[in-house]
This record gives sequence, structure tokens and C-alpha cells, in this order.
Amino acid sequence: MSQSYDYLIIGAGILGTSLSAELAGRNKSVLILDQHGVAGGASGGNLGQISLMDRFEDWHLDLALESSEYYAELGKRHPIGYRQHGGSILLMNDTQIARAEEVKRLQNLRGLSMEILSPQEARSLEPNLKKNGLAAMAYCKQEGCLDPLALTFYMSDLAVARGATIQTGERVLSLSMSGREIGRVVSDKGTYRAKIIINCAGGWSSNVAAMVGEELPIRSHKGTAFVTQPMPPMLRTTLVGGGFLMEDTGEGAPDYRVGTAICQHENGSIIIGQATEAANVDERSLGRRGLSETAKNILSYFPVLEGADIIRAWALSTSYSADGKPVLGYSPKADNLFTVAGFKGAFTTAPAVARRAAAMLLSGETFVHEIEPDGRELCKEQCG
Ligand SMILES: Cc1cc2nc3c(=O)[nH]c(=O)nc-3n(C[C@H](O)[C@H](O)[C@H](O)COP(=O)(O)OP(=O)(O)OC[C@H]3O[C@@H](n4cnc5c(N)ncnc54)[C@H](O)[C@@H]3O)c2cc1C
Repeated sequence: MSQSYDYLIIGAGILGTSLSAELAGRNKSVLILDQHGVAGGASGGNLGQISLMDRFEDWHLDLALESSEYYAELGKRHPIGYRQHGGSILLMNDTQIARAEEVKRLQNLRGLSMEILSPQEARSLEPNLKKNGLAAMAYCKQEGCLDPLALTFYMSDLAVARGATIQTGERVLSLSMSGREIGRVVSDKGTYRAKIIINCAGGWSSNVAAMVGEELPIRSHKGTAFVTQPMPPMLRTTLVGGGFLMEDTGEGAPDYRVGTAICQHENGSIIIGQATEAANVDERSLGRRGLSETAKNILSYFPVLEGADIIRAWALSTSYSADGKPVLGYSPKADNLFTVAGFKGAFTTAPAVARRAAAMLLSGETFVHEIEPDGRELCKEQCG
């Protein structure tokens, strides 16, 4: 006989674990299934940057600011490695500066302390920054970083402490329909029933949606990054390239590109990214090209890293949405399938996204004016 739950969540990344903690905290029975492990997808291989300057719309910045507050509080009680030491965007030409000025005006109106520094000011903030041709640097002191693995495991432990069950190494193979609802969830290890099935499958979320004949605008690409041994303090802020301001990461982006992203974590190790390339969602092979070009790129900014020992490198898939908008809501194809996916840089917003999703699931609250996911049904009441 199959087991039955209030909620069955597919995916134990930062979104699935955060949402399960919220739902289990309201005395709901929750089962999470993950084909790999907790943080076995993108949540286990990212830089942990908490970025605010690249959240251009109000709803997005609201989620990011709410989550930053949460991290600041949580960081006092739990070792998630959260530090609000400021973030920088390296601007290499007039187009990027013009875009940064535009974003700065909007962010300042929202109370964010974004400013544009001259190359000299940039170098006094980051003395190891030696890039030739640096045109300017955007800086926001409210940005920061955290340890993404520590956070995801904190969320999964919290969910379990509140009564949730997490089963890893178990892949959902099909969603079997009974009328307009999913009647059974079939994995490679068992069969389950749940009142609501939640798709938190990150880069795989389109595959999960396809099990009920739904097409999601979620795509994935492969990111390559690596981490050094712990080093003396070398960076004061987290840094990314100007491309982060250009909204060019969606559908129109080239199949292969090397961007700039670097941050030094609390223990001294420096995480460096990243080559991004079109690839199948399950493709995790490390390519020589992505590694060497990412290393070459970062050395052009920080030659001090020449000779640094790389202790681990990885490549894995992360999701993005074709139109830049996330998917948050019930499926048009199955009345009890709810999707939470396609949030850009989801560590920056996950706690607030989980709260919104839980409110929608538990009380039918809507966020239609904040998030407009392309005609998607936001709640059953609204559409009934
Ligand atoms: C190199 C790199 C650097 C990044 N840097 C940052 C950063 O600095 N800051 C930031 O905020 N974000 C960053 N990101 C993005 C961030 O990692 C993602 O936005 C976030 O992890 C997405 O979380 P998620 O829970 O939606 O997906 P995931 O963490 O990918 O979780 C989805 C889970 O679903 C599981 N799953 C899928 N299909 C099935 C199935 N059929 N059955 C069972 N389980 C299934 C997968 O195994 C996976 O564990 C980076 C990503 C990469 C790759």
C-alpha cells in the first residue's frame, strides 16, 4: 500500500528544503524525495553570493531584502557563514556603466546603498584588484555571502526536526493522473500519495512538469566553478562581472560564456566562477576549456591568485527561466501540482520564496501583483 502525505516535494535543494521546513512547521506531513542527496543539485555547487544589485524588479528586491534580514538573524545563532561585507560589480565599458547608473537610481529609491566607484576608489576598496581597463565598480554594502551547503543542510535538518521525512537516492519517474489530479507519485523505490505534489526540481523541473504534459519555461545550463585552499584575507567584498547587470543570461545568451564571480568565505577559501554552457541537465563532466578559461579570466583581475592551490572543481546544472520570471503556482494541467522554480540566484531569495509559497499553499494567499509568472494560475480560489 502506498504511503500518504499532505505534501510531497520533489527536490532537496535550497528551495525544496526551505519550503519543507515552512510546511512541516505548520504540522503538515511532508515527504521530500531527491534523486541525489540533500544539496545534490545546483545548491551544492554555487558561490553563496547574496546579491541585491541584480534584482531589478520590486518583487525580486523585496524577496532578497527579506531573506537578507533572515540570514543576518540566523547567522547569529547558526554557523551558516553569513557575512554582509559588501558586494561589487566590475564595470568594463560605458554600456555597463550606463546600466549601473540606471539600476543605482532605482535601488537608491528602494533604500539600497548602491554607489558607482572610480577605478582608483575600486582599488582602494579591493587592493588586490589589478584589472587593466577597469572603467568603474558598482558597490553595495548590503550584499554578502554565505556557505550554501551549510544553509541547505540547516534547512533540511530543520525540516526533519519538525517532522518531515527526506529520502535521498530516490528518483521520481512518473506522476500518475486520476482525473484532474495526480493520484500517485511513482519513484524508482516506491509509490506515494499526497494531497499536493510540489515541483522544486531546479534544472529538472521541466522534466517533472512534462510528466503531466505541462511545458515550463525553465531551462538549465551547466556552470563550472572551483575552490582554493583556505588563504589569508585577499578580498573585502564578493565580486561579479558587469554581465550580471545586463539581463543577458536568459534565452538569448550564447551557448558558452565565461563570466567573473569570486568570493572569499569565512574559512579563507576562495570560490571562483564561472564558465556557463548549454548542456543536458544531467551532464556534470568537467571540461578543460571551462576550467582553464575561468582561471585565466580571474587571474586577469587578481594576479595575486597565481599559484593558489585548487582543492576542488565541479560542473553542474542550474536553472534559469526563458523570460526571466520564476514559476510559482499551481499547474494548469494537474490541480494538485504546485511549482516553485526558475528563481535566479535562489540563495538570495529562498527563505522569502518559501514563506510566500507556504502562504499560497496553506491559505490560498496570492502574490499576483508582486510576481507575474506569465498567466500561470496563482491559486485555486482565484481560478475556480
Ligand atoms: C556554478 C554556480 C554558481 C552559482 N552561484 C550562485 C550564487 O553565488 N548565489 C546564488 O544565489 N545562486 C547561485 N547559483 C544558483 C543557485 O545554485 C540556484 O539558484 C539554486 O541552487 C537553485 O536551487 P533549487 O532548489 O531550485 O535547485 P537544485 O539545488 O538544483 O535542487 C533541485 C533538486 O531536485 C532534484 N531532482 C530533480 N529531478 C528529480 C526527480 N525526478 N526525482 C527526485 N529528485 C529530483 C535534484 O537532484 C536536485 O537536488 C549558482 C549556480 C551554479 C551552478
